[in-house]
Amino acid sequence: MTAELESLRADLDRIDDRLIDALAERQRLIDKVAQHKSSQAASLHDGRREKQILARLAKKGRTGDLDGFFVMRVFREILDYSIRRQQGHLTGQSPQGGPAKSALTVGHLGIEGSNSQLAAAKFFTATRVHIVYRGCASFAELLEGVQDGSLDRAVLPLENTTAGSINASYDLLARTDLSLIGEEILEVNHCLLMADEGPLGAVRRVYSHPEALTQCSEFLRTLTQCHLESVTDTATAAKIVAEQQDPSCAAIANADAARIYGLHVARRNLANQRENFTRFGIVARDAHTFDSRIPCKTSLMFATAHEKGALLACLNILNAHGLNLTKLESRPRPNAPWEYLFYVDFEGNIADDQVQAALRELTSKSGYLKVLGSYPQRTTGTETHADLIDAIALQTDGTSQACAVDAAQCNAKSGPAEPKALSKSPYTLVARQNIGHDSVIRIGQVVVGTDRPVVIAGPCSVESRDQVLSSARVVRECGADMLRGGCFKPRTSPYSFQGLGYEGLELLAEAGRQFDLPTVTEVLHPGDVRPVAQIADVIQIGARNMQNFPLLKEVGKVDRPVLLKRGMMATVDEWLAAAEYILANGNQRVILCERGIRTFETSTRFTLDLNTIPVVRERTHLPILVDPSHACGTSRWVSPLALASLAAGAHGLMVEIHPDPEKALCDGPQSLTFDVFADLMSRVRMTHRSPGDVGTGDKGTRASQPGT
Ligand code: PEP
Ligand code: MN
Repeated sequence: MTAELESLRADLDRIDDRLIDALAERQRLIDKVAQHKSSQAASLHDGRREKQILARLAKKGRTGDLDGFFVMRVFREILDYSIRRQQGHLTGQSPQGGPAKSALTVGHLGIEGSNSQLAAAKFFTATRVHIVYRGCASFAELLEGVQDGSLDRAVLPLENTTAGSINASYDLLARTDLSLIGEEILEVNHCLLMADEGPLGAVRRVYSHPEALTQCSEFLRTLTQCHLESVTDTATAAKIVAEQQDPSCAAIANADAARIYGLHVARRNLANQRENFTRFGIVARDAHTFDSRIPCKTSLMFATAHEKGALLACLNILNAHGLNLTKLESRPRPNAPWEYLFYVDFEGNIADDQVQAALRELTSKSGYLKVLGSYPQRTTGTETHADLIDAIALQTDGTSQACAVDAAQCNAKSGPAEPKALSKSPYTLVARQNIGHDSVIRIGQVVVGTDRPVVIAGPCSVESRDQVLSSARVVRECGADMLRGGCFKPRTSPYSFQGLGYEGLELLAEAGRQFDLPTVTEVLHPGDVRPVAQIADVIQIGARNMQNFPLLKEVGKVDRPVLLKRGMMATVDEWLAAAEYILANGNQRVILCERGIRTFETSTRFTLDLNTIPVVRERTHLPILVDPSHACGTSRWVSPLALASLAAGAHGLMVEIHPDPEKALCDGPQSLTFDVFADLMSRVRMTHRSPGDVGTGDKGTRASQPGT
């Protein structure tokens, strides 16, 4: 090395040191600004002021022969870092969300150097918390880690600007109860990495993550006779190429991976689109709240009712509350062919009144709604040349300063969000006036809540394959609509038959499939709600659990209709308030079921409260069924009470049947024989027949009848 070059390098090192000192000095000032701002109400993020700063620096840079675009990119990073640091000060939390903890275990896809790990590092960089990174082999493993507590956070890719949404992530999020507490945006520069500087023409095998292969499809088409191989993540691809040291092998990964695994970067910018960004969600077990001065985004998912214009009505609600939509995505709704779940992101913090009001309206318009989280919004951080020109124009425009002040005043609020106003009424979502008409709930082909009564029938408990299959056959043949069968039984005595559990559920599901009947089964424990909801079509909450609030909240979080029985000691308003728990947690598909209450009368098991039918119909829009079996406890009284219930305006019935009631392991005395049930069904269908019905009436409540 010549002495001159050596001295030039020493000069460069000195300048770099000065840059670091200047950045450290800047950070100290930022901390002071943050302390100052924490006593003020203004929003932390002032996009207009940022643009002005960037424009001023770009202009100044040009006087020193620096490219304006380069200057903006560098300072965008610096400003972005400052905002994160201020957010941390403002909330008194660590900037990654949540109370400060001494160490956090953060899961990401793949090994060191994967894009997910880079995103994780970028997100957690402004924290002073010690981060332990843990690579995982799949998205499912990441989310399971957060669920079981072995990970504090997971970094999950959600969408990419070239390839679109990452469906697997959305589908997994829908199935869990985890929350999004942050987002990160990473510019992904896909590079072709090789062991050596060999010619591109020699490459016969390219390893990468399938998403990366999709994003670089146009480049890959130019490589002839090349085999593409999917691996868990881009860094693993780089590691494989480093181990093989074979000139015919290459990996698509980022330049950091090349550095980590000692590879040569043969080509950069391989993505089909020049600007290639991936957005990641930061997932935690519990939701976090953020100060309303931090610009936030809220993510939610909802299902729309089966009505014309339903999606538009939901989006209009956001619009009417001035909430800017930043993403709309649809995914198939599990177990419901041709129905969709919509994922929406909008600008707004759940702590804001506007957002709260919009969510309340949206909840009553959708069949199911779940808030995935509210979290500080990240910007892409790319300035196009058009932005640069705009920004410079803005800076030379004398009005811009005044506008910036106005914007800050507009953002100013009177301190942190007030706690949510508590409603005086015990229920509002279930109140009739909330919708103004009867709710109609579809379960496959079955429609609940119209003038056509729905009949749910089946054994009290699933006892054996033969028992449930023979019952299902009769349910089908008699023209009833759904099959019931208890698998987890709430028994008064611990020595009574407790049900067959998941084994019984499989038998019930098999019978339901064989006879094309949706299934109804009871859950007793919150932990069973999600697994049971994967298999059964309707989840029953029994009388003894009507006020089991953790259970009500849990069924409120799944996308499955719920049959809510009335507690034997509950008033109508207590019952409706219990239903409110389910709706308030997101699930709007609740069917009420009157099953008799405790009175002084002992001649019957309970007393069927027929009064309740018109009362409930007046107070709520939810459909109401009647279970005369448990109400009277004696099979010969079931049919008259069933017919009386329908006459009083119930939307349907639930009755217990058994192939041999005397041998039933549970509730034999109230179970109908198949013959008596057939007789009841013909009376039901005779009495409640609409003009369109023909024959035995088994076309009843089905929206359309598949061949049997
Ligand atoms: C049942 O339906 O099997 C049952 C236990 O009912 P209830 O909760 O109404 O007693
Ligand atoms: Mn029973």
